[in-house]
Amino acid sequence: MGSSFNASTTNQTTNKMSTNTNPPVQKSDDEWRAILSPEQFRILRGRGTEPPNSGTYHHHSSPGVYTCVGCSAPLYKSTSKFDSGCGWPAFFEGVSGAIGRREDGSLGMHRTEIICTNCGGHLGHVFKGEGFGGAADERHCVNSVSLTFKRG
Ligand SMILES: [Zn+2]
Repeated sequence: MGSSFNASTTNQTTNKMSTNTNPPVQKSDDEWRAILSPEQFRILRGRGTEPPNSGTYHHHSSPGVYTCVGCSAPLYKSTSKFDSGCGWPAFFEGVSGAIGRREDGSLGMHRTEIICTNCGGHLGHVFKGEGFGGAADERHCVNSVSLTFKRG
């Protein structure tokens, strides 16, 4: 498992050009509170994390699409979902253009936060080079709370 080869030199420019700070869907905290549950608000707007092994979609494997619970944008296809054993839903890749990235230095760690590019909602974190597979060798570790599953 794993590889010492690190191919993270690609796409640096793309990341810097991200539109994360100005997503198309803009709402005030009060407006978000009106449409989200307290737990959804805590995670999506407060960059929170659901407890491991607690999420609705952790072991979910029906065919369909996972959309953003905040704005309904399609984020992940069930075909890219896999069981990472980490306690949260994991995906090899998101729907093209749907997932934004932002460096996150909280908790004394260097992590890459992933967000919905349409509304800026927090989804989770992405980890690279762990050897799980997928074209980019990435694991998108996503809170179930941030997702709504649509069978399809
Ligand atoms: Zn969204």
